[in-house]
Amino acid sequence: MREAAPHPFLVPFDGSFDLAASPSAPDDIPSKKECKRELAKLQERLKELQEVLYAQDMHSVLLVFQAMDAAGKDSTIRAVLSGVNPAGCQVHSFKQPSSTELDHDFLWRTARALPERGRIGVFNRSYYEEVLVVRVHPRYLAGQRIPSPPPLDELFAGRFDSIRDHEKHLARNGTVVVKFWLNVSWEEQRNRFLARIDEPHKNWKFAAGDVEERKLWPKYMHAYESALNETSRPWAPWYAIPADDKPYMRLKVAEIIVQTLESLKMGYPELASDEQAELSSFKDQLLDEDGPGT
Ligand code: ATP
Ligand code: MG
Repeated sequence: MREAAPHPFLVPFDGSFDLAASPSAPDDIPSKKECKRELAKLQERLKELQEVLYAQDMHSVLLVFQAMDAAGKDSTIRAVLSGVNPAGCQVHSFKQPSSTELDHDFLWRTARALPERGRIGVFNRSYYEEVLVVRVHPRYLAGQRIPSPPPLDELFAGRFDSIRDHEKHLARNGTVVVKFWLNVSWEEQRNRFLARIDEPHKNWKFAAGDVEERKLWPKYMHAYESALNETSRPWAPWYAIPADDKPYMRLKVAEIIVQTLESLKMGYPELASDEQAELSSFKDQLLDEDGPGT
């Protein structure tokens, strides 16, 4: 089992996370310029780590992003992974499930999208929607056609069991799971929605339902607090990242990913002595070549 890095934004594993005390905008954060400079260094480091991850072909990495609308999931994913070889990285966004997806258990659609060994997989929303938006709107359960559904508390407790088991199973089989909740404040979400309405080039980002969902803020916060407490575990930790300042948020996310990958102590595969000898013989052959021949 992997030791989780002792990071100030790590959600404790004992269920004591208090969402109301979790900052959206901490004091004393570095300037935007400094955040960007540090992020650039981490992007470079992440690029190197991803190359070793790929070469070693042993672990895969699953990064889960969950947040309220306009918290900055997309731009964070883009910024943090911008230096990584696109062939080594897969991003999946999960929206309202399709009818085919609803015909399966709630982990099916994301399980199909899990990263292969050597790759970084990113979930922009995930199976956690099943204990977040579905908890806020239990009417979505009707479409899932669950036989003899238990009372809601029991149903969601069962889902937390399934998620913990699923993530533990992934961890046992080499997937490093790291989860980020981008903690945007109610006030900052309002500012960002207003900007999406006021600035024509941002209009496309505004969805009609966004204001309605915002009215359910306390219910969402309750669902987030419960989900984070129930599923932050050493093998699949949650981090609650202050999200009101975007450069700072991106820096913190990048820092945690780099720290997590460094804790794996990966190295390029080393050849056995007979394989080394074989490689030397290939070198000799290449050096002895006369020409392409006829
Ligand atoms: P943006 O940041 O651009 O708004 P988004 O991830 O919010 O991106 P949208 O198309 O606006 O994308 O919204 C997707 C919607 O799908 C969200 O409201 C989310 O809660 C909902 N959704 C995702 N998974 C499920 C699910 N399993 N059941 C019901 N709704 C879901
Ligand atoms: Mg949206």
